[in-house]
Amino acid sequence: MRVVFKFTSKIIILIKITSLLWLNVEVKKKFSNFVLMIVLVLKYLLPKGFRGISLFPFIVFSDKAAKNNLVLLNHEKIHIRQQLEMLVIPFYVWYALEFIVRYFQYKNWDLAYRNISFEREAYTNEKDLNYLKQRSFWEFYKFL
Ligand SMILES: [Zn+2]
Repeated sequence: MRVVFKFTSKIIILIKITSLLWLNVEVKKKFSNFVLMIVLVLKYLLPKGFRGISLFPFIVFSDKAAKNNLVLLNHEKIHIRQQLEMLVIPFYVWYALEFIVRYFQYKNWDLAYRNISFEREAYTNEKDLNYLKQRSFWEFYKFL
């Protein structure tokens, strides 16, 4: 077990429990920039084909390479922010309902998933690592 603390403008606590399981707790002080997340790497939890999933406050990655992929991490961080600003539970309800609507629209699982407004926002902006610093409240609404 290894514990690493880093104190800057944010508090990062990294706990390595086994080589498979990393616990990474990150809390930023400024609210405009607020992220509370616990990053886990759990090899066998995610369904096949999934590299990362965010269930506030957890971001779960399928492997360490995925965890170290900054674009993928940014994608999941965008979802954490969306979940926070919707007070978590309504996010999942909206996500599921919009998936159903998109499925009837596109008649294809992958297209339906990629066109959920939350995913459109995350896929459009995942490569911009500063995106969350200037993102406005309920920005996903513009991707409906
Ligand atoms: Zn996503």
